[in-house]
Amino acid sequence: MTSSPHTPSPRLWIRQPLACADPAAANGVVIQDSRIVERLAAGQEPSLPVDRVFDASRHVLLPGLVNTHHHFYQTLTRAYSAALNKELFPWLTTLYDVWANLDEEQIAVASELAMVELLLSGCTTVADHHYVFSDALESAIDRQVETARRLGVRAALTRGSMSVGRDQGGLPPQSVVQDEARILDDSRRLIQRYHQPEEGAMITVALAPCSPFSVSRELMKATAELAKTEGVRLHTHLAETEDETRYCERLFGLRPLDYLEECGWLNERTWLAHGIHFTDEEIRRLGRAGTGIAHCPSSNMVLGSGLCPTLELERAGAPLGLAVDGSASNDHSNLAEEMRQAMLLGRLRYRPDQIGHDDVIRWATQGSARCLGRTDIGGLAPGQQADLALFKLDEPRFSGAENPLAALLLCGAHRADRVMVAGRWRVIDGAIPDLDLSALMARHQEAAQRLWRAL
Ligand SMILES: [Zn+2]
Repeated sequence: MTSSPHTPSPRLWIRQPLACADPAAANGVVIQDSRIVERLAAGQEPSLPVDRVFDASRHVLLPGLVNTHHHFYQTLTRAYSAALNKELFPWLTTLYDVWANLDEEQIAVASELAMVELLLSGCTTVADHHYVFSDALESAIDRQVETARRLGVRAALTRGSMSVGRDQGGLPPQSVVQDEARILDDSRRLIQRYHQPEEGAMITVALAPCSPFSVSRELMKATAELAKTEGVRLHTHLAETEDETRYCERLFGLRPLDYLEECGWLNERTWLAHGIHFTDEEIRRLGRAGTGIAHCPSSNMVLGSGLCPTLELERAGAPLGLAVDGSASNDHSNLAEEMRQAMLLGRLRYRPDQIGHDDVIRWATQGSARCLGRTDIGGLAPGQQADLALFKLDEPRFSGAENPLAALLLCGAHRADRVMVAGRWRVIDGAIPDLDLSALMARHQEAAQRLWRAL
């Protein structure tokens, strides 16, 4: 949809969904250009004539899902034999040797496959944490930007980094650690070239050392300063395992959150992947600081890392979002399925009446948007971006479901029927128009096999 000074842009009514995550949009929403212009309560009609109507009477309507943490490249090492059945640190050291051989062609196809998979699951904003930069991967993020633009998906890309390799007592091989000045220069370059600070941004760039112990203290501090100067966000992994806590205490004499704070990271600019092993006092500090947590339930179960204290974090005031995490520890990139996992895992920690499908949908939409520092996505309010996910309940798994919204999680929705990003349909009838999915999968599989053979 485009506008001219004389003709108002067409108005599209997504009419009367079967059910909607936002009760204030029971009669649907009206879209004009890239935004929602009206949200209609039950029985309410659009205030102005509409040009087109999409009959949503067979669809459950959600704000587009927002993924807050991933490593797209890991789709090339799914279910990788040598890394199976391991905890985080041995899992990482096994896979670093494989990932050290990645090239840009592989990053491009892995990113495309991951973004496609997310989009088909109802995800309209994808975040990626890319921290493997060998000499063959200097333009990894540039390739991801190209891919996101081509698919029309909103992307929060993060310039990751590792500067402490095995020679300095770190986990990764030397070939994927970089000089710190080079990391900061490239971070600056990417922000200046791609980061859109404005409302409705399709591409944002954040800065993201792999973990506080994979870079030096100086780089952690310099990264926080650069993010502040450039007005971008900060991201890293934190408090994922007990091993990590012990490692930090040994290395720095501090628990991970204390170290993060000392480096100038404990503020509202930061969101952290995992956030499992916090004390009550640390949870209060995170809430006061407004630091976000990307909850990654499947990954936490696969690696046996623990249960994120989601409700305590949310009650303390910390933005809480949902994420699939990288595809070597999940190993799918399906955010709809991840909502089900979050609810089920939550039920192991909390009473059933404390965590419902609506809580998890809130995390995957509004909560995730807050983690990314955005108020223009994650909801269906007028003025917000027209990012929508519509699910049909036409598979055997849904047959007999009485509550359509609850059915998405309880019966296991995994594929959206329609997905809109910034007012444009990017998924129609469960497929991405103009994408040859079989050809993409063939290229991806070939890239994966080439990577395994390189070892
Ligand atoms: Zn991760």
